[in-house]
Amino acid sequence: MPLLELRNVSAGYARENVLRDVDLVLAKGEIVTLVGANGAGKSTLVRSVSGLLHARQGEILFDGKPITKLSPADRLTLGIAHVPEGRQIFLGMTVAENLRLGGYGAANRSKENEAARLDRVCDLFPILRERFDHTAGNFSGGQQQLLAIARGLMSAPRVLILDEPSLGVAPLLVAEIFQMIERLRDEGLTILLAEQNARQALAIADRGYVVENGRVTLSGRAKDLLESPEIVEKYLGAG
Ligand code: ATP
Repeated sequence: MPLLELRNVSAGYARENVLRDVDLVLAKGEIVTLVGANGAGKSTLVRSVSGLLHARQGEILFDGKPITKLSPADRLTLGIAHVPEGRQIFLGMTVAENLRLGGYGAANRSKENEAARLDRVCDLFPILRERFDHTAGNFSGGQQQLLAIARGLMSAPRVLILDEPSLGVAPLLVAEIFQMIERLRDEGLTILLAEQNARQALAIADRGYVVENGRVTLSGRAKDLLESPEIVEKYLGAG
């Protein structure tokens, strides 16, 4: 049974439907990436998984149970954490305060207490330990992204949704972030990644879905997608 499944999901804003008839599965322990141009609907899709947007049609199942009507808070409590595009960390608060806020909902699932979870995310991202009591607003874009991911991990998620983690991040740190995502998968976490940087996202993913105009037009093993002439032409550019 997949950990997460979207069946025939449509979603949108106001009168406009953006996502149409999307089917997607996420197996436990894999990285699945959404590939697509700016505005194709990747964020809309991940928002409908975490509940920031409600599906207008179709069904979303987590662990085989419908979650389509649940609030974002209830989905977080079940183990679906969303690291949003643009990071949305609290710039006026310290690293520690941002991390503690991320712990919402963890108590139900995690055997670890808050201190142990803080310790674990600081082991993953040593800079957060170094700057534990510093204000997040002084961080670079990349450091803020690390903090956003760490905050997501504080909820002890079963699925981590990452929306454009490379956006506004210097190339060196982008590589570090992608390595971190792989490491989290290798430790057993299931990851749904929406990323315009198709080459790097597919390089670490197990499978991928191509989103065009709100529809899934192609899906498959990431290895195969990287070699597909259509993907190469549309999303990978020269080289
Ligand atoms: P990006 O990487 O730019 O976020 P995306 O593939 O994630 O691209 P979405 O953000 O899901 O795309 O946007 C898909 C469509 O939905 C676009 O046409 C966009 O203008 C529209 N849209 C996104 N957010 C809203 C909103 N809050 N209200 C109305 N329309 C929206």
